[in-house]
Amino acid sequence: MTAGRFHPEWLPTAPEYFGGVGIRLIGKGTWRSALCPFHDDTRASLRVLYPRGAFRCMACNARGGDVLAFEQMRTGKRFADAARDLGAWG
Ligand SMILES: [Zn+2]
Repeated sequence: MTAGRFHPEWLPTAPEYFGGVGIRLIGKGTWRSALCPFHDDTRASLRVLYPRGAFRCMACNARGGDVLAFEQMRTGKRFADAARDLGAWG
């Protein structure tokens, strides 16, 4: 069993999270662009909702509602483990 619970309000913002994993967000406004790590991307196909971190790739269709979903997809970790890694479990 995993003690604790998920605290969505503790998740890092998109600029904090994506900066921390070395993904540069390009542009200004509500949707930023980035190179997608889920396919061999050369065109910055990933769209990231700023600052919340929902994302969708226009090329490979990877998508999720927050930086936690992104972290799970990136690392293959379970929800609670990824949440703990992002400081949103306690
Ligand atoms: Zn992609």
